[in-house]
Amino acid sequence: RKAMAEGLLTADAARSLVGSVDAFLFDCDGVIWKGDELIQGVPETLELLRKLGKKLVFVTNNSRKSRRQYSKKFKTLGLEVPEEEIFTSSFAAAMFLKLNNFSPEKKVYVVGEDGILDELKLAGFECFGGPEDGKKNIMLEANFYFDHDKSVGAVVVGLDQYFNYYKMQYASLCIRENPGCLFIATNRDPTGHMTSVQEWPGAGTMVAAVSCSVQKEPIVVGKPSSFLMDFLLKSFNLETSRMCMVGDRLDTDILFGQNTGCKTLLVLSGVTTLPELQDASNTIHPDLYTNSVHDLVKLLQQ
Ligand code: PLP
Ligand code: CA
Repeated sequence: RKAMAEGLLTADAARSLVGSVDAFLFDCDGVIWKGDELIQGVPETLELLRKLGKKLVFVTNNSRKSRRQYSKKFKTLGLEVPEEEIFTSSFAAAMFLKLNNFSPEKKVYVVGEDGILDELKLAGFECFGGPEDGKKNIMLEANFYFDHDKSVGAVVVGLDQYFNYYKMQYASLCIRENPGCLFIATNRDPTGHMTSVQEWPGAGTMVAAVSCSVQKEPIVVGKPSSFLMDFLLKSFNLETSRMCMVGDRLDTDILFGQNTGCKTLLVLSGVTTLPELQDASNTIHPDLYTNSVHDLVKLLQQ
């Protein structure tokens, strides 16, 4: 195998990994849960790592919920995780606007769900769109003029199960007619586990629709962008060289870890399969890989 190739997590590698990091960053879907089902061995793993004094942080590209709602989801699954340890791409969008001094006088148009609206409101921004605009219909007749609010200074696009032509046009007009309007994408995942049993089109599909219409690339605030890491480092006293990113997707999680200087561990409990990881066309190689986070506990106890 190539020198670049990742190594299988062995007992020695697990001990060495745990000894060399202060914090574990966990991706959520495919690592902690699959849809609404907890992945086997997760409680034991988190408990052991906490006992060993490791800081645990949870980073999800899923923008459909706010940090508060995710804290509740963890609780429903029997895990105690405070909001402060959860970083969602919906929260990232709100923090991006805050750190870039987005004027509270301007409005934000949202193509997405309540998670984005909730985080924007919590950060003090006026926003609209979201699920409400999912009910709006348009009649494409001659002389139909589609008007929009000129005080919109940013458009945020995330996963939106109520995505429609109305929203596509609204978002496009805001961006196209105001050169200063920010175009922010929560994430570009091509697919996601909207349900526990199947993959569905992800936020990347909605981002691509708007991006194609306005012929502009968005600012991505979720993984693999390093924005969330910069923000995370402001919240905790951590060094990326002493952190390990654990994820199931190569082009978001593993790339995020590599972009920010973390050690990386791929778990095969989510979307990536071993043949995909080892395929000659794959260019993203984690430091280590294993079946699931449960292996950490099993190997450390050997
Ligand atoms: N976005 C949506 C809408 C999803 O449903 C999912 C997974 O279910 C994701 C993103 C990926 O989330 P994560 O970063 O936790 O794997
Ligand atoms: Ca994932």
